[in-house]
Amino acid sequence: MKYKLLLLDLDGVVWRGKEILEDNVKAIRLLEDKVKIVYLTNNSTRSRSEYVERIRSCGLRVEINDVLNSGYIAAQYIISRGGGTAFVVGEPGLTEELVKAGIEVRVDARRVDYVVVGMDRFFTYNKLAKASHYIRDGAVFIATNTDSTFPIEGDVSPGAGSLVAAVSVASGHKPDFIAGKPNSWIIELIGEKHPGIKKEEILVVGDRLDTDIALGVKAGVDTLLVLTGVVSRKDVAGAKYKPTYIEDTLLDFVRKTGLL
Ligand SMILES: [Mg+2]
Repeated sequence: MKYKLLLLDLDGVVWRGKEILEDNVKAIRLLEDKVKIVYLTNNSTRSRSEYVERIRSCGLRVEINDVLNSGYIAAQYIISRGGGTAFVVGEPGLTEELVKAGIEVRVDARRVDYVVVGMDRFFTYNKLAKASHYIRDGAVFIATNTDSTFPIEGDVSPGAGSLVAAVSVASGHKPDFIAGKPNSWIIELIGEKHPGIKKEEILVVGDRLDTDIALGVKAGVDTLLVLTGVVSRKDVAGAKYKPTYIEDTLLDFVRKTGLL
């Protein structure tokens, strides 16, 4: 088999909102014994342990080290720079990832080393003021992701990128590091955690061109676009980042390529 590690997106691949995507899940079950499965999401509102629970509830096998969210990636980046103190604009899941990695999260410090901004449904003027003050004062500005919106039933809601934009305008600084997809640093991180696996043995699977597929293209790894999420086949023609493979579902891919 060509691929030894599948890097799977969650929303649009394993589930879509509350609905479980049965064909994809069936394929993952078939693949679990044959390849390493790692889940990767740009969502930072839930902690990795919450994702483990939800993935297991779909009947899949997963351990915490096989789940990467943008909060965890942000934490790993800070640790790779020697750690430090951080102010967080984000929900408890983000703070939990940073604290678990050994980063000191401060609420009322005079200065901090990092400001980490993610999706925050409890965003306030006070948080915006503090975050921009720390950044102007020299703190490294980390965004979990810059997705401007995310889909909800029949509409979209403001995403982390909308809050990152507010902090950028208020501080006069763009983020120094964007943790989520499509940052190819994620592939380096995976390479460090799975030293036996080469880049050409990794396949990124996702439903979005601008995050999942862009990640693979930028990092030089193969990609599979599944049409179980936000993108349809006609969206691919004009896209900047094009997938290696396109299939309706992951199960179609598994059947066609004979990975079974
Ligand atoms: Mg997705």
